[in-house]
Amino acid sequence: MDTLNQPSRSPDTEAGAGVEPDDRLQIKNYSIESLRERLPQLGIEPYRADQIAGWLYGKGVEDPDRMTDLSNHVRGLLRDEWETRALHTEKVARSEDGTVKAVLRAHDGELIESVLIPEPGRTTLCISTQVGCPLACSFCATGALGFRRNLSTAEIVDQVCRMREVLESGAEPTTRHDGNPITNIVFMGMGEPLLNLSSVLETIRLLVHPKAFGMAPRRVTVSTVGVVPRIEPLLRAAPVNLAVSLHATRDEVRDQLVPLNRRFPIRVLLDELRQLDCVTPRRPVFFEYTLIAGINDSLADARRLVELLEGIPSKLNLIPMNPHSDSPHGPPDDAAVDRFLREVAGRGLFVSLRRSRGPDIDAACGQLALRQVSEPVVAPHRAEA
Ligand code: SAH
Repeated sequence: MDTLNQPSRSPDTEAGAGVEPDDRLQIKNYSIESLRERLPQLGIEPYRADQIAGWLYGKGVEDPDRMTDLSNHVRGLLRDEWETRALHTEKVARSEDGTVKAVLRAHDGELIESVLIPEPGRTTLCISTQVGCPLACSFCATGALGFRRNLSTAEIVDQVCRMREVLESGAEPTTRHDGNPITNIVFMGMGEPLLNLSSVLETIRLLVHPKAFGMAPRRVTVSTVGVVPRIEPLLRAAPVNLAVSLHATRDEVRDQLVPLNRRFPIRVLLDELRQLDCVTPRRPVFFEYTLIAGINDSLADARRLVELLEGIPSKLNLIPMNPHSDSPHGPPDDAAVDRFLREVAGRGLFVSLRRSRGPDIDAACGQLALRQVSEPVVAPHRAEA
């Protein structure tokens, strides 16, 4: 695993439960357990950690002065010693279809995007795990940005807090689930979650912790292009849904679309999934297959796809490619999408078509590249670079 092309600042290579030395003052880098251990060193009872988490994650209150059941001493610490917000909401764009995209700024000026997708009965939040992405998938706009750094746990978690705030201040219809207007979380924003695994796992622990966000693990989905040695550690650590970006049925094609395929070819990836005993019909793998005209949309592809997935409890998500200016490719026409869908469904695969959400604000899959935002938004990190 050490030989994976890890960014030098990856928390994966550093000690500590998701707490990076530089970010120690971000309270959202702490798991509730590590906060319970830390507080007594400051003369505070461990159970205060649960209260702090209740305010930050349960109630969405980040101003220590409003945490009324905390002593003045604890409130003072939160004010003076720790940051309770890791991100600043720089810009919010609302799509005609109700999708909301926000550009969020980290303390070092780096910008990331998160997307809220309200639907009847649920509201899904799509969050980022890296600034840019190192994997350079040829049809993905985030890949074209290149890679800048991993996000800390606090920065991943804070996307949930900032977007809940956006949701509560806006006009979006919300479906509440145990008091949280965000019902589902997908790690499908900018970056490759499995290349920032320790922070992703710390985030998941806070999402499902009853004293924090209290979400059911089945409402959380992590998507990967297939960093094979990290799939099992993810699923062992947390019973979340796994989504795998497959996109091709032959290595020659997948090598071009997803360069990581040269490292972990289709067979290796699928064999790994096939032998995982935590993958079951009740807990299938969600395969994402972006349909690209003339590249991977033939009927032969549809047939090969069904054969390849045999023996893996699967659900297939077809995503007609969302076009963007960095790619010469585009989606097949509706008839070709329909043909592909019927072919795989006819062979017994459970398949659904993912409708593009928020394309008018560049919020759809593969379009997160800090576009459709006014000029000054991109300026801060350019100026510092
Ligand atoms: N790096 C992870 C997490 C990002 S998920 C992964 O790739 O799985 C984003 C999903 O959108 C992936 O399935 C990705 O392949 C897909 N995608 C990227 N560009 C796209 C585009 N232009 N149109 C449709 N889907 C795209």
